[in-house]
Amino acid sequence: MAIANQKGGVGKTTTAINLGTALAACELKVLVVDLDPQGNASTGFGLSRGDRKRNIYRPLLADEPVRDSIIPSPVPGLDLIPSAVDLAGAEVELVDAEKREYRLREALRPIMADYDYILIDCPPALGFLTINAFVAADSVLVPLQAEFYALEGLSHLMRTIERVRRAFNPDLEIQGVVLTMYDRRNNLCDMVASDVREYLGDVVYETVIPRNVRISEAPSHGKPVILYDMRCTGSQAYIKLAGELLRRQKGTVGAPALV
Ligand code: ADP
Ligand code: MG
Repeated sequence: MAIANQKGGVGKTTTAINLGTALAACELKVLVVDLDPQGNASTGFGLSRGDRKRNIYRPLLADEPVRDSIIPSPVPGLDLIPSAVDLAGAEVELVDAEKREYRLREALRPIMADYDYILIDCPPALGFLTINAFVAADSVLVPLQAEFYALEGLSHLMRTIERVRRAFNPDLEIQGVVLTMYDRRNNLCDMVASDVREYLGDVVYETVIPRNVRISEAPSHGKPVILYDMRCTGSQAYIKLAGELLRRQKGTVGAPALV
């Protein structure tokens, strides 16, 4: 599942880390691939910048075995393929690479069956790295910040997904849209949320991720918020999101919550 939105700071990385952690807590085997040269997902799992010798660049562009890039995370059942500084040049290198849209798919193929979920944390752009994620993925999860400009840029994202579906990956689906950084005290948030639901319909998750200070503190401790403070509203929201995702994938979209 590619976690994508070309806007920065909308909660992609936070969602990759914490949805991944919540799924792993359900005893599913999870891999998070940090495909953003900024490497925030790697940092969020406590990996220092000097400690990224194993990284996604190697299988993606240097034809090295993908298994050599996998490291365990602090979360039981969750593995990580870190980002690397080299990834900053990947956009340019991919332009001339052979089978340039399929490189991530080919790189991940040998380990596909080892995991229940592979979450790909995309960079804030619709360049070759994100295209590679869309070609490798079965579906896309779009975090959308509940703010006035939330829908701006969304049609560009949807067109890109449609183009990838037609040209490279006919099975690609939009798995869902999740509203992030939701502030209940802010009336604008409610207005934005109802606009988004009206415009996008059922694809929008019922679960919203609240703006929560514990979520923003957790990365500096190198931990998912669920390990940092499981009881805070942010952790609870990501646990609920995982539950909703699992129910959806069983084909019961819209059914009342079982809990
Ligand atoms: P992206 O990956 O889309 O650029 P991030 O997940 O890195 O976005 O989030 C951007 C910033 O906002 C980070 O500092 C993160 O800790 C913070 N953040 C993300 N989600 C929340 C939230 N629900 N509440 C408070 N802060 C958040
Ligand atoms: Mg990010």
